Amino acid sequence: MSRPKRRGVSPVDPASFPVATRTDLRVAIYEDGLGNPLYCPIVVLRGAHPGPTLGLSAAVHGDELNGIRIIHSLLGAIDPATLHGTLLCAPIVNVPAFQAEQRRFPEDHRDLNTVFPGKTGGLPSEQYARAFQTVFVEHLDYLVDIHTASRGRINTFYVRADLTSPEARELALLMHPTIVLHGKSGDGTLRSAARGRGVHAITVEAGNPEEFQGRMVDRGEQGVRRVLAALEMWRGPSEKLPDAPPILCRKSTWLRTRGGGLLVNEFRLGESVEKKQRLAHLVDPYGHELESYTAPTDGVVIGMSRHPVAVPGTRFCHLGTPGDPLDGEGDA
Ligand SMILES: [Zn+2]
Repeated sequence: MSRPKRRGVSPVDPASFPVATRTDLRVAIYEDGLGNPLYCPIVVLRGAHPGPTLGLSAAVHGDELNGIRIIHSLLGAIDPATLHGTLLCAPIVNVPAFQAEQRRFPEDHRDLNTVFPGKTGGLPSEQYARAFQTVFVEHLDYLVDIHTASRGRINTFYVRADLTSPEARELALLMHPTIVLHGKSGDGTLRSAARGRGVHAITVEAGNPEEFQGRMVDRGEQGVRRVLAALEMWRGPSEKLPDAPPILCRKSTWLRTRGGGLLVNEFRLGESVEKKQRLAHLVDPYGHELESYTAPTDGVVIGMSRHPVAVPGTRFCHLGTPGDPLDGEGDA
């Protein structure tokens, strides 16, 4: 019995696929303990007309599912006969974590989004990341990598991007998120690894883990539709715009509890808060207040914990500092 070869994975090259055609691939990029190949689903939607290659990826963390539906919706809507360039889609990047219904890579419990571009001969997660990077990133011009909050937390619809890169900045603003959070590359993410290969890349944070959220899926799909239109790849019938323009944040910080107890939040997701504004308090099992927490600076709430049981160091509020990195110190 012969088995498909995994070693020596090669890049998916859009030019090697027929024009005006969708091709669903099962790419052997890893192996299980029986020595059988583990397949990663990849979709090549090669347009009838020349144009750039846009990558869409989701579930780099195995329990972050909204991006999968965003990709499915777009693939269902776009006729390749009307497409310029190629959509290269990886709806489930981290297959082992997806199968285990968890965030981290199961074999070594690493966060896959800290080990890109991976390493040949490295840890299990590093070898997986290396193979995925080789298969998926090589021929991209642009990348939208779709995530959600992690388990126990909820997020606004926001984008992480290097706002000092004109191309990444444009992609981020086209998504019309509630917030754009500035961040440089070099942190082991798929986004930074793609950037290292000359790919203009952003990370979209679309809502909450472990579910399909219709509104977040819709916002993500609308955002990618605007990206496709701006890149002159494809234009859909309508591009709805949210009411408010995004708030740019030059940095962010997670606020943490100092004690243990039951945490009562007094702020809302997406709320703009002022320095010294009371944000939360801890109560003991009898309901007596133990201590309270205030905002260290003016800010906007990017994400929050939805789990009230806290120990010292529990993250409860992801607070963005408004400002544009192109304005030096920003306006906050
Ligand atoms: Zn994620």
